[in-house]
Amino acid sequence: MKIAVVGAGIVGLTTAAGFADLGHQVYCSDSDGDKIERISSGRLPCWEPGLAELAKRGQDAGRLAFGVGASPAIGEAEVVFLAVGTPATDDGEILLAQLWEAADLLGPRTDGARRLIAVKSTVPVGTAERLEARIRARLPAEYGVDVVSVPEFLREGFAVRDFFEPSRVVIGSATHEAAEIMDRLYRRLSTTVVHTDRRSAELAKLASNAALAIKISYANEMAALSEQTGADYPDIAHILGLDPRIGPHFLGAGLGFGGSCLPKDARALVRLASEAGAPQTVASAAIRANAVLPQRMARKLEAALSGLSRRRVTLLGLAFKPGTADLREAPSLRLIAELKKRYPGIGLAAYDPAVDVAMKRQLPAGVGLYGSAEEALRGADAAIVVTEWPEIRKISPEDYKSWMSRPIILDGRNCLDAHALNAQGVVCIGVGRLPAA
Ligand code: NAD
Repeated sequence: MKIAVVGAGIVGLTTAAGFADLGHQVYCSDSDGDKIERISSGRLPCWEPGLAELAKRGQDAGRLAFGVGASPAIGEAEVVFLAVGTPATDDGEILLAQLWEAADLLGPRTDGARRLIAVKSTVPVGTAERLEARIRARLPAEYGVDVVSVPEFLREGFAVRDFFEPSRVVIGSATHEAAEIMDRLYRRLSTTVVHTDRRSAELAKLASNAALAIKISYANEMAALSEQTGADYPDIAHILGLDPRIGPHFLGAGLGFGGSCLPKDARALVRLASEAGAPQTVASAAIRANAVLPQRMARKLEAALSGLSRRRVTLLGLAFKPGTADLREAPSLRLIAELKKRYPGIGLAAYDPAVDVAMKRQLPAGVGLYGSAEEALRGADAAIVVTEWPEIRKISPEDYKSWMSRPIILDGRNCLDAHALNAQGVVCIGVGRLPAA
């Protein structure tokens, strides 16, 4: 099939490279010329395992091409995926400017057949219908248009795997013909393909991410209660997770959820729900519970460093999770803001294995970003584990003791062996854990 993908972020690139690998002819466009130039020469804008190799394979086979803006390839495409950004404001309004702009690029199909547009971007309920009406209004009446909703569920850090082995594919369509074409595209993947209407597909995406946010906030509030009552949250999480009705995933306590999707999608759901007159009080509480976690961590730091006038603190990890360099709505940024507000003279250093130029640019002034854990930890009074990268989990007690002024570790992801560290003279304080004996 001839496919076009508009938007070359992690979602668009993965979709484009994935379908090219499945044998389709794919053209991927972006409005950012620099980005396209970098991608074409093999330098991807995101740090995603296996994606560069997948894209290169498609380019080498002549099945994947990149370009800027409109192109004859879009005119010939049997399906056009829209994978542009849909950022949300702080009060949950999803901004659709990129989507409208991308849609306005789309003319009729060169062969006169019906235009099929698949929305991959996360959007408010009713967007596919609005988009279809907008495109119909622009095209001469003899051209047919179908807009379907095919929401993206990939996880950053696992994008390539999630393309080929998705947990599910959701196809929201209004016509049998459109559903059939999309089904043909996805049938080759061994997964459950759920056919539904467009509104249900759009809401399912927001509902999925809000459900994850709720689970994480529940875990964090339970961890706080564990601390207050002298219980051990990791044991409680284990016990909860053994119940198949609850399941073991997303029960870890720590610095909370972040990233480009969970926070914004949860906010968007809450706003949409309040406009629709069906308030989502649980999702709303999950957002509030997440927002206080940096304060909780700062209080722990205060207790650990009490009486110390000079404070030099190292953040181990900055990305919102391991396997990505993404800092969008990362807990690290909220924590930095909280620490700077509380302790105006604090010295902050940081290390992240995925550190790159883009990450450096996003860090607030006054945070020293180092290329190794050793450099970042030298002379530190305390360290906070923000991202559970394998490289960070492997730092030995001897290294902490020899590099830091005081080997005090606040494990914001409960990813270290606190007992082993404590036994070797490193103070390791987890989240929701019993204090070391
Ligand atoms: P992104 O912001 O990284 O990339 C979007 C790309 O679209 C950018 O490169 C931008 O230059 C380009 N663009 C903007 N306007 C354009 C236009 N008019 N024409 C052509 N290109 C244009 O976004 P992303 O992280 O890839 O996410 C894309 C969508 O998928 C969002 O709606 C997001 O919520 C959703 N989503 C993201 C993830 C994720 O893990 N990042 C997962 C699931 C769903």
